[in-house]
Amino acid sequence: MSTQNPVFIPGPTNIPDSVRKACDMPTLDHRSPAFARLFRPAVEGVRRVLRMEEGEIIVIPSTGTGGWEAAITNTLSPGDTVLAARFGMFSHRWIDLCQRHKLDVEIIETPWGEGAPLAALARVLRADKTGHIKAVLATHNETATGVKSDIAGIRAVLDAAAHPAMLFVDGVSSIGSMPFDFAGWGVDIAVAGSQKGFMLPAGLAILGLSPKAIMAMETARLPRTYFDFKDMLAAYARGGYPYTPAVGLIAGLAHSIDLLESEGLEAVYARHHRLAEGVRRAVFAWGMTPYAASAELYSDTVTAVKVPEGCDGTALVQLAASKYGMAFGVGLGEVAGKVFRIGHLGMLTEAMMLSGLSVAEMCMADLGWPVRLGSGVAAAQEYYRGTVPALAQAAE
Ligand SMILES: *Cc1c(COP(=O)(O)O)cnc(C)c1O
Repeated sequence: MSTQNPVFIPGPTNIPDSVRKACDMPTLDHRSPAFARLFRPAVEGVRRVLRMEEGEIIVIPSTGTGGWEAAITNTLSPGDTVLAARFGMFSHRWIDLCQRHKLDVEIIETPWGEGAPLAALARVLRADKTGHIKAVLATHNETATGVKSDIAGIRAVLDAAAHPAMLFVDGVSSIGSMPFDFAGWGVDIAVAGSQKGFMLPAGLAILGLSPKAIMAMETARLPRTYFDFKDMLAAYARGGYPYTPAVGLIAGLAHSIDLLESEGLEAVYARHHRLAEGVRRAVFAWGMTPYAASAELYSDTVTAVKVPEGCDGTALVQLAASKYGMAFGVGLGEVAGKVFRIGHLGMLTEAMMLSGLSVAEMCMADLGWPVRLGSGVAAAQEYYRGTVPALAQAAE
């Protein structure tokens, strides 16, 4: 018997069978027209998911972290200043990457559990009269704390300060699961990965570039070879790649976007909101709270659950894995042990979500946490009962 359960980590996410099959294909000559026929729909699909109007899509055999590195090295030069707030492990790691590339990172230290601090960003940008800040880095969804930031708000702050900095957005754990508006928010680079909202195995960094970001490549002097967008765009123009593409994953990407669009992106976002809200109802019923500091910051793809004093979030994650064969996320960095994380993105239904909540509850009971079995599950059930839409007739 298989003991395969859905995973409830905030990436990699559960892979639909049809996506797995779409990735499984015979070898194909990536310099042939057959590859171009496969690649183009994937790129056009990403463009729609990001809501891009102008600009280019880049798909690199890599992961989200490689996407960050590509964004930075293609657009900036050693010694350039970038502005970033640090409020979790992922915003931290992006800052670290910039520092290792000898960029001067102006860091706004922000308590974990908060999101991008608009007022502080506005102050720094207004004070930068000479425009020495070249880019603002924003983590749309901080996966370590389950916090969503207001990217439209950052764009408004840049515009109000009439600041020319580019806006780079890490959307690795939001794109494809939460509304994203590349054109509307004036994003210059968006970074996604294949293994979260796109429900694929890890292996692709997916980026959207604005015309301004593409222009910045002309003067950017950070070294890059494998990640050079210029090579990539030149090869694209000929329908190919500067090196061997991850053909199976690209086929899977086109299919996963078909799945998202046949459900309807708005319906996908609504489903993620519903899944998340059910999880939050369960968390409150357990007498706990999300780590996110306030309701408007709640992420619809991951909830970091603050555990009661004297309880260890990591112990719950370990027990869930060893006893029940179910994966939750541990707390990272300064919240290690203080939270455990429930991923609720990708291929998930309310029924699957209830199985995750019920296993989390069993672990709490096993560990002697002060939680009544069934309390969180019942709160989520009540919410899902009243909100789940009827399945479409044609659904398979
Ligand atoms: C997962 C994640 C990353 C890292 O992506 P990898 O694909 O693991 O390299 C970066 N940022 C955020 C917000 C993430 O959730």
